Amino acid sequence: MFPKQKVHEISTDQLGYNFSIKSNVVIKLRYNKNELEKEYLRSKLITEVHQRFDIECKKLFFFRYTPKDSLNRILLEQLSVPKNDLIPLPRHVLELDTLDKEIKNVFCLTCKIDSKTVRIRLKKLIKECIYFAKQMLKNDYFQLIEKNNLSDLLDLYDTLTDSELEQIFLNKRAVYVNLLQTRIESRLMYLKQVMFNELTKLSFDLKKIKEENYTSDKVSVELGQKVIVRYKDKQFELNYFHYYKLKDLFLSNEFFDEYLFVLLSRYQTFFRHNHQINEGYGMQASLSKNVFKQLNRLFGVTHEAFASPFNCYFRNYCSAFPDIDCLFGSSGSFFDYEPIEGSFEANPPFTEEVIERMSVHIENLLKSSLRPLSFVVFIPEWLDPPTTGLLNMEKSKYLRKTFNVEKNKHRYICGSQYVDGLDSYLYQAAHNTRIFFLQNDAGNLQWPIDQTKIDLLIKSME
Ligand code: SAH
Repeated sequence: MFPKQKVHEISTDQLGYNFSIKSNVVIKLRYNKNELEKEYLRSKLITEVHQRFDIECKKLFFFRYTPKDSLNRILLEQLSVPKNDLIPLPRHVLELDTLDKEIKNVFCLTCKIDSKTVRIRLKKLIKECIYFAKQMLKNDYFQLIEKNNLSDLLDLYDTLTDSELEQIFLNKRAVYVNLLQTRIESRLMYLKQVMFNELTKLSFDLKKIKEENYTSDKVSVELGQKVIVRYKDKQFELNYFHYYKLKDLFLSNEFFDEYLFVLLSRYQTFFRHNHQINEGYGMQASLSKNVFKQLNRLFGVTHEAFASPFNCYFRNYCSAFPDIDCLFGSSGSFFDYEPIEGSFEANPPFTEEVIERMSVHIENLLKSSLRPLSFVVFIPEWLDPPTTGLLNMEKSKYLRKTFNVEKNKHRYICGSQYVDGLDSYLYQAAHNTRIFFLQNDAGNLQWPIDQTKIDLLIKSME
């Protein structure tokens, strides 16, 4: 009943998934009729939290769009707490550091700039700084910023070099920052408090949903140009390659459509997708099929430490939402997973806190096992300042090799691979990628590393 050539077309070269070795494990599921309705309610709650975040960001910092992926990143961080129950209770408002960083990175008065980008961004930044300052200082604006008015810089725009432009911009902006420091900080604190309350409420409400009984309506699956899965007023799309991939991964013989809806709804609403600003898929991007093939061939890799049923290449993988993902073969969250043997690839969501926790977890795993254990880790080379996770791995006693692959020399598969058409699959990395080989002695013996293998791996990333 399905357009076979389409499946074939997409599966040919670029997409990663190893259809070959299907295991015989079939889980006999007791399908819980509540589950559809529960997911429907969960998705509404999570959407509300995203909306609240939007409203507050716009109100407090006058953003046109909420900083891209900020809340997604914060939610991902919550998912990297061991033994989490979807959303654990946040511990303390001050621990929402990620939120602080996310806002500061994009807010006009605190964002980083460098000579290379200053000319492109200058006009917009100046406009935003002035707008924010005027809103805050009202009638005092001209009086307080008279000498250092940022708009004067635009007159010099064509006569200055990039680095002069950068320097003068930073000096002038510092005057604004000085005047507004306390207000920025108090707005940030307020935002943190709001989000702390929201996440606390979300955590309670999700628990309540788990315990209640509901009745579900029917789910419908339409096989048209794409596959459309509907439940009540919600609908999600995916392409045929992934529809059949998920069928193949599914560990039961029954209720596929129902669980497919839950899976799609979870990933698409939890990590909010906004096509306009390309939000939501960034932290779902994966290495390409060729890289996985080489990792398997050269270093015996058979398991992904960070994946989803959509982006996994191997049948063995860890993922963010064990309750639903396990039905599609996931081994649960990486932070609850304690293998003593095996060769793993780890390409975590690019969030500093998650990368740091991953580095600690890998170190502990390697310390605890005498059997062959090996991790090949891919993270962005963020050096300004160097991230804690990166430093941890650099000084690990299990580090066998680390090197950098330049950003223009490798590509990733887009996180929207399960929805989009073939043409948008591969994209050039936005940063250099740092690769680490971390192995205990037995792991190194079993999966040795040499320059020829490294060269082949780098080549496969092109
Ligand atoms: N599997 C691909 C893509 C990795 S993208 C690869 O290895 O190249 C990072 C993935 O980690 C995302 O799919 C994200 O949902 C998942 N993830 C998030 N939290 C996780 C957790 N606690 N344990 C395992 N995976 C997690």
